[in-house]
Amino acid sequence: MASKITANMAGCWFDSASGIYTGEAVIDEAIARGFDPQTECPEAGWADYEYYHELWTEAEEFLGSLAPDGYCIGSNENGDFGMWAVCKSCGEYTEEPQDDCEFCRAG
Ligand SMILES: [Zn+2]
Repeated sequence: MASKITANMAGCWFDSASGIYTGEAVIDEAIARGFDPQTECPEAGWADYEYYHELWTEAEEFLGSLAPDGYCIGSNENGDFGMWAVCKSCGEYTEEPQDDCEFCRAG
């Protein structure tokens, strides 16, 4: 059973300094929460896997499916990976989860 991700986990999980290796942390985090990569981790690490980027995306989507209402999981504009508050209407990143935002209201 997947372990729950709660709102108090919002913020940066893996900073952008990890670069291409952020995916390895993302994949490991997803596996720890019940994601099945359907393959063995290569000896040199996930970044060595032929379909690394596809797996990274799948892992990210898996984590995203566990995010509480009003949050998304992914990379922000700085390239930091984590869980971020979003506007529930348009998905724009916001300071706090909210039902609509300046973009919605402007649009
Ligand atoms: Zn909005």
